[in-house]
Amino acid sequence: MAAKVAKRKSGKAVLGIHAACTLVAFLIVASLAFVLDRSVTEADRFGLTAERKLVESEMQHQVDAVVQYQAQLSYWDNSFVQLANRTFTDAFVRQELTGWLWRDFGFSWMIFADASSRTLLAVENGQKVDPDVGARTLKWVDDLIEKANSLYETTLVAKGGGWALRSTEPDKDALAAPLPNIHAADLRMIDGKMSIVVVQAVVPRTLDIPASRRRPVFMITVKPFTGRMVRDMEDRLGIYNLGFAPLREVPKGSIQVAVSDCFQPACMVAAWTPRAPGSFVRSETLPSVIVIAMLGALIMAFIAARFGAVFSALQTSEAENRHLAKHDRLTGLLNRSGFDDVLHASLAKVTERPFSLLCLDLDKFKAVNDTHGHPAGDAVLKTLASRFAASVADRGAVARLGGDEFVIILDHTVSRPEVMALADALLIETQVPVPFEGQSLRVGSSIGVAFAPEHGKIAREIVPLADQALYLAKRRGRSRVQTADDLAVADHLPQNEQAA
Ligand code: GH3
Ligand code: MG
Repeated sequence: MAAKVAKRKSGKAVLGIHAACTLVAFLIVASLAFVLDRSVTEADRFGLTAERKLVESEMQHQVDAVVQYQAQLSYWDNSFVQLANRTFTDAFVRQELTGWLWRDFGFSWMIFADASSRTLLAVENGQKVDPDVGARTLKWVDDLIEKANSLYETTLVAKGGGWALRSTEPDKDALAAPLPNIHAADLRMIDGKMSIVVVQAVVPRTLDIPASRRRPVFMITVKPFTGRMVRDMEDRLGIYNLGFAPLREVPKGSIQVAVSDCFQPACMVAAWTPRAPGSFVRSETLPSVIVIAMLGALIMAFIAARFGAVFSALQTSEAENRHLAKHDRLTGLLNRSGFDDVLHASLAKVTERPFSLLCLDLDKFKAVNDTHGHPAGDAVLKTLASRFAASVADRGAVARLGGDEFVIILDHTVSRPEVMALADALLIETQVPVPFEGQSLRVGSSIGVAFAPEHGKIAREIVPLADQALYLAKRRGRSRVQTADDLAVADHLPQNEQAA
């Protein structure tokens, strides 16, 4: 019974060890997965931010380049002089616009218009076209004309009866000439192509403007992004599938940056497939993470198995020790210590639950040892022990105090007459021969009985009385039952009976 309870307890503890190890293994795997996931997310986030910044600065770089080219004509005395007649000579158009900006740099539109978008000259793909055709293009950029006009106006200062543009302070760290910042530039969809548009008033290099020419003429240039430019950008930036599309049409998973100051769904954005360094990080680190996780899980499984087994063995051995401390090795009955526990527990509630104590000693047992040997004596002790235990069953407890001496506690459910009947039955059980190696071993027994609380409420009172009753039985010729009540009578017996 005790062994079963111990086994159940140790089973629970081992289960606890396994559960703890499983939890630790799970935590190892979960934290590795968490760290990997965070690394992937952070790498992706870092990659996206870097790519976005690269594309933004590349676009700005492209715009700045167009501004530089355009500035060569719009900050030019010759252009300004030609525009005195509000037009350009054919030679100017041929050399500067067609020959240079169109042929060399691919400016698809060059339009000269005033602040109210009245077109003076329009050159489309190197060909002079009807100014009204150019005016149609201007409707996509009238906000830029407005902005360039306002920059022009704010930069203009009166100078000697005329006007001059305030130039910026010379800056030796800036590579550009200290020219006033009067251009407006942006990326726009023109003729179905994403283009860089630059608008700037045409002013003389001297920045002096006569009073009669105060109202400016603007040069509007359009430089479309060609497939090659886009491919070059891709190569330079190391990105893929760069293109321009309205924000709502950007393919899922692409990154995008606004290409102008417009953030509506219809506005154009530059979009590309992100390199997503996270997936690279994942594929590079996943094998090591799996190996570490498996190692962690294996170590925890090993610990669970080893500790579980050791713990289980310890528990079993401790349970065995506890059992041995209270039980007799030979018969498996309670030993003196186990008997003391039961006796004290019974005495503790003796008033509500009276009990009886039987002391039993085998008669002439030594003769079995002497005649048949010690193992034969052991066999008798074992067999009789199990007979006594079976007779008492769950009505009490049987103990072997040592040698051939047994004690039995019968609980309150066994009445006095039943106690006496059981004692008689035990005498008979003892006398039933014990088979051992083809022989029949015979002994008898004597029993002394005391009743608690009548004969005592403490161990010091009741145990000696039961013991004395036993020796009375021995004295009276053995193979009999005597109670503590018989002791008083025995005291008055003649000497010769007492000595028998
Ligand atoms: P009595 O009728 O007066 O009780 O005498 P007895 O022969 O039964 O002997 P007694 O009770 O005085 O002594 C018990 C003997 O039991 C003494 C010892 O040799 C023997 N003995 C004690 N322990 C063991 C044991 O574990 N195994 C065996 N085989 N014999 C034991
Ligand atoms: Mg004896």
